[in-house]
Amino acid sequence: MPVTPADLIRPEIRALAAYHVPSADGMIKLDAMENPHPWPGELRDAWLERLRDVRLNRYPDPGAQALKTRLRETLSLPEGLDVLLGNGSDELIQLLALALIGSTGERRCVLAPEPTFVMYRMTALFAGLDYVGVPLRVDFGLDEEALTAAIERHRPALIYLAYPNNPTGNLFDRDAMLRLIAAAPGLVVVDEAYSAFADASLLDALPDHDNLLVLRTVSKIGLAGLRLGYLVGVPHWLREFDKLRLPYNINTLTQLSVAFALEHRELLDAQAARLKQARAELLAALDVVPGVTVHPSAANFVLFRVPAGRADAVFEALRARGILIKRFGSSGGELLRDCLRVTVGSTEENRLFLEALREALD
Ligand SMILES: *Cc1c(COP(=O)(O)O)cnc(C)c1O
Repeated sequence: MPVTPADLIRPEIRALAAYHVPSADGMIKLDAMENPHPWPGELRDAWLERLRDVRLNRYPDPGAQALKTRLRETLSLPEGLDVLLGNGSDELIQLLALALIGSTGERRCVLAPEPTFVMYRMTALFAGLDYVGVPLRVDFGLDEEALTAAIERHRPALIYLAYPNNPTGNLFDRDAMLRLIAAAPGLVVVDEAYSAFADASLLDALPDHDNLLVLRTVSKIGLAGLRLGYLVGVPHWLREFDKLRLPYNINTLTQLSVAFALEHRELLDAQAARLKQARAELLAALDVVPGVTVHPSAANFVLFRVPAGRADAVFEALRARGILIKRFGSSGGELLRDCLRVTVGSTEENRLFLEALREALD
């Protein structure tokens, strides 16, 4: 008998559906929190000029030193804190799960308030860790009492707090987060994928909390194609994680291109400011669409609720008009019932989205 996947692949992996990225050919893409704005022509030329001398026959700098130095400067990182780079923050989330696998027989657990970013759960499962999701309150705030009880009960090796949270868009209460960090028996990763749009961060809390790590990415500020995420924290933790990092995980083009982009930080900042303005306009416009309830957002996307039972029909109506947003289906659970998520796009994309939405709900 030839060997089959059933012989070799764990049942929980065989039971998984592959992470589904819907085809977006020719569509207005408002499903994945990408920045819609391209770079101006002269900046593109300067970037291409920088790439001209790249030696593709050589391996990348394994430590990505120039990029790390640039990042440290950009973040104004104090001495005593360091960064670990990943091929997207997804890779770092996976690396954390790998690093925290217990010794033989020892069950370890990852905990997060839910709904939240699905990769926390997925990577825990990949690594054979337990995962505990603790429901948010109906207003998407942290249920501190339930979280504290779950922390006591499960003693998680790792807690994820997305700040602002995806897909709900809100910022959790900072003091509640600090209390959870103090109560945690293990590590707490505050995932700041949307910090450029939030005016809030826990980076400043790092020096006072040895079990705190802050995760960021350049994906949502306009560099999703480059795949670069970074974890900020104290070196004695990052050193251990670094041992599990594959050599050369950050390719040469990414190292050079992100460093170049950070040298032109004012453009990234201006684009983020423009998207925040567009978000305010989109929130205001959604707020007066009959049948729509809109949730506050500190990110570059907006979560909104449509009349009961109509989320699928609205999603399909938009797709038929060439506009792709995000629906949750049963994966969203009770709290996301009737909810849809839309990325803040360009002025024109947002206009077309609103027009299609009004029509779909008419
Ligand atoms: C988009 C997102 C990420 C993934 O970022 P990459 O760097 O593109 O892998 C991580 N965390 C949250 C909360 C996100 O929404």
